[in-house]
Amino acid sequence: MKILVSVKRVVDYNVKVRCKSDGTNVDIANVKMSMNPFDEIAMEEAVRLKEAGIATEVVAVSCGGPQCQEVLRTAAAIGADRGILVQTDVELQPLAVAKLLKALLDKESAGLVIMGKQAIDDDCNQTGQMLAALADLPQATFASRVEIADGKATVTREVDGGLETLQLTLPAVITADLRLNEPRYVTLPNIMKARKKPIETLSPQELGVEVEPRIRLLKVSDPPQRAPGVMVPDVDALIDKLKNEAKVV
Ligand code: AMP
Repeated sequence: MKILVSVKRVVDYNVKVRCKSDGTNVDIANVKMSMNPFDEIAMEEAVRLKEAGIATEVVAVSCGGPQCQEVLRTAAAIGADRGILVQTDVELQPLAVAKLLKALLDKESAGLVIMGKQAIDDDCNQTGQMLAALADLPQATFASRVEIADGKATVTREVDGGLETLQLTLPAVITADLRLNEPRYVTLPNIMKARKKPIETLSPQELGVEVEPRIRLLKVSDPPQRAPGVMVPDVDALIDKLKNEAKVV
C-alpha cells in the first residue's frame, strides 16, 4: 500500500507573527519557515506504517513555491521514499490544495492519505475534509491512534467529549492530531541520505487543476491588547471585583 502524506511549508511555530503596517496581510518576510507540525506527525505515522511492513511506499507532497523543496527534504529525512512538489506562485487556498491532492491520489493510486489536521498558518482545518469529499473517500479527522489491518483502518479520534473509534475501508483520508505520535528527531545521516531521494516537480496545469483563489483577504489586524493584571490583597477584594467590576458573580 502506498501512502501519500501532504506536508505544508509554514511559518515556524516559534515565530511571533506580526501584521503588516498597512493591514493587508501578516509579515512573513525573512522569518523562519518549517514543516507544519501536524504534517510532521502525519509523516511519522506513515513511516511507522512502512517500518511495520503495512505500507510499501511513502510519498510526500507539498504545494507552493520552489522553497517547498525544503520541507520535502525534511520529509525524506524522516523516511519518505520520494517527494512531489506541485509548484506554483499562486496563493493556494484549501480547496485548491484538496483538488491538487485529489489529482495526485488518482495519479499515484495511493491506498491512504495522511495529512495534518490543520496548518498552523491559516488554521483552516479544511483541506483533509475537502479532499475526502472530492475523492468520495471515507475520512477520519483528529486521529490520535491508527491501526491498519485487512484493508481497513481503525482510527481513534479526539472529539469534544472524549474519544471516538471509527473503522474506515481503505482507501481513506486520515488527518493527524497532536497525540498521534511523537515525531522522531531527524539525524544528520538521514538528512544526507535524503538528498539522494527523488523529488518530482509538477505544475497545477499538468495535473489539470485550476488553483486561482476563491477567497479574498480583506484585512488583517492585531488582537486587542489585554489590560495588565492586578494583584488583589485578599479573597474579599477579589470577590468584590468579580461582583462589582467584572460583574461575573
Ligand atoms: P488547512 O486545511 O489549511 O488547515 O491544512 C490542513 C492540512 O492540509 C495540512 O496539515 C497539510 O497536510 C495539508 N495542506 C494544506 N496546504 C498545503 C500545501 N500548500 N501543501 C501541502 N499540504 C498542504
